[in-house]
Amino acid sequence: MKAAVGFILVGIAATAIFEIRSYRAREDVLAAVAGFSGERAFKDLLQLVQFGPRPAGSPNLERSRAYIKRQLATSVAEIWDDPFVATTPMGKIPMTNVIGVIHGENPTVVILAGHYDTATIAGVRFVGANDGGSSAAFLLEMARVLSNRKNKFTYWIVFFDGEEALKQWSASDSLYGSRHLAEKLSREGKLRQISALILLDMVADRHLSILRESNSTGWLSDVVFRSASTLGYESLFRGGTFPVEDDHMPFLARDIPSVDIIDLTPFRSYHHTAQDSIDKCSPESLAVVGRAVLATLAEMERMQ
Ligand SMILES: [Zn+2]
Repeated sequence: MKAAVGFILVGIAATAIFEIRSYRAREDVLAAVAGFSGERAFKDLLQLVQFGPRPAGSPNLERSRAYIKRQLATSVAEIWDDPFVATTPMGKIPMTNVIGVIHGENPTVVILAGHYDTATIAGVRFVGANDGGSSAAFLLEMARVLSNRKNKFTYWIVFFDGEEALKQWSASDSLYGSRHLAEKLSREGKLRQISALILLDMVADRHLSILRESNSTGWLSDVVFRSASTLGYESLFRGGTFPVEDDHMPFLARDIPSVDIIDLTPFRSYHHTAQDSIDKCSPESLAVVGRAVLATLAEMERMQ
């Protein structure tokens, strides 16, 4: 993902301090957000980081994919591989999106997505704990929670390959997996099934600071931030307001309501450095975002 040049910062919290005041939340919201375990997600994160650097096309990413599919298979009955060959500045690279399907009462699909590849940074052993690891770990736990209950929507849990640039970020060197899937769904006439996409990126930082990503669809961002606020997480969702190019862009371009839940303050010094390691992450942050997303889904179901 790439933040636009020239940040517009609105209401950045001086410090991001955990202030979990869930007792303020309404009973029904609390019931809807139960079950997401930050500890379980963190175990997946540890495992993914142990595979080492995981750029698109690498054996380490293949191992990660196998791990993701094994974990997914314990909760989700239907798993689709979405393989394709990407044309990149480094040549043709085989990539695979992985999609877990959780059928609901109706066929309307809500996509929960994130990327599982990590960036290639010259001269750096980049393991991407927060950037690439956290989104994949989050989705594995979310799949467990959603498959363990009855849902109104059908959910697709989508692990995008090739979010990161292989050489240098550009329109053609980035977002390979999401561009491929959006194009494929459009070609097959399946986009109309999709009612919304919720993207997660860098959601495990121990000093959580989710920003209001301004390319995202307004009403959907409103639901996310209102839900976070209902749970007492306002102080953790104050990362400013600015645009970020991320895996939601190809879906936004096709008029699918989409939101990028992302933590990327300009002050985050370890982004795309060797310091993006597991010690920067915490189970509590994964759980906070998990509950905020579950509250968002409950609100979206109510709005239907
Ligand atoms: Zn990145």
